[in-house]
Amino acid sequence: MVDAEKFTLLEVAEAKLPTIFAFSLPELEQWCMEHEIKKYRAGQIYRWLYPMRAQSWDEMTDLPLDLREKLAASFSFFISEVESHQIASDRTEKLLLKLHDREFVECVVMREPNRTTICISTQVGCAMGCVFCASGLPGLTRNLTTAEILEQMTRLDRLLDEQEKITNIVVMGIGEPLANLDNLLPALERLHEGKTFNFGSRRITISTVGLPAKIRQLARIGKRYSLAVSLHAPNDKLRSEIVPVNRNIGIQEILEATEYYFEQTGRRVTYEYVLLSGINDSPAEARQLATLLKNRHSHVNLIPMNAISLLDIGGSSQETARTFSHILNDAGIVTTIRKRKGADIDAACGQLRLPKVREKIKG
Ligand code: SAH
Repeated sequence: MVDAEKFTLLEVAEAKLPTIFAFSLPELEQWCMEHEIKKYRAGQIYRWLYPMRAQSWDEMTDLPLDLREKLAASFSFFISEVESHQIASDRTEKLLLKLHDREFVECVVMREPNRTTICISTQVGCAMGCVFCASGLPGLTRNLTTAEILEQMTRLDRLLDEQEKITNIVVMGIGEPLANLDNLLPALERLHEGKTFNFGSRRITISTVGLPAKIRQLARIGKRYSLAVSLHAPNDKLRSEIVPVNRNIGIQEILEATEYYFEQTGRRVTYEYVLLSGINDSPAEARQLATLLKNRHSHVNLIPMNAISLLDIGGSSQETARTFSHILNDAGIVTTIRKRKGADIDAACGQLRLPKVREKIKG
């Protein structure tokens, strides 16, 4: 029997077998009909792929053997290999996936009572160059494909206990999601389907450095994704220093685009603000931020900076964070301080790819 799981990665890449997870149910039904297989078989396969979380064709025991052989000869199952799987003391889990071209990508599952959130990546590396983030240190290598984005979801789903379900998705891993919208949107579309994860768009948060034209494009597609913008500074001078891509954009243009997003979708936008000690965390900066966001449909998420050992920047103290948050609250701006998750396995925001970055820099 031909078993795609037994192929080496390169063989799969050379054979160019598409992953089964890239197919929608109607597409799989179509495939069945083209191969003179009864249409209802597609529904059976889908049940194995999604609610049953199968790991290989062999598990699909209610399919005839010749059909399983045909599937294995026509599709690959997974298209990445799990290079490492780490579990943090707070039960955050991180997968390092090896892609067919020997590039790596990371994705994370985080647990809270009644909430299981996964964080997925959209690019190998990142071109944005934020000075406090490890993911972008070696720059951008390439976009992830739709199938590679989906694979993170299906791989993480298979780490969960039988009764456990993914409740939220944050597109906040490695890369700039809005720079890869063409591959991201079809992946998210697949998750909405009733027979896959049946995921509502409101439970998916897309985090962006703030690309105005792409924010407008996202506003117009008729979905109500939660949008988070990584602002990190209340004025252009400072923002351009710590988020270099800002030099070509500017905060005002971003805020106009997010207002448009709110008008089109009715969704309040979240502004993320990493607190960097002595850089953007003074009371004056908090007041400036409050003025900037006043009367906008916003929510501020203050993020304690996660340590990046390669960088010379530190996070603000808890006391500074509380003072900053009080100033915003007093000005009527809803503010939360983000909980840190998975820091002991380098799984927190900004730390993804850190071990690989260390390797690359060492040469
Ligand atoms: N490119 C997108 C998504 C990836 S970054 C974006 O910019 O939003 C996801 C979030 O993690 C962003 O808000 C980013 O600013 C934040 N982040 C990056 N490095 C961090 C660090 N060292 N500590 C805490 N948060 C960090």
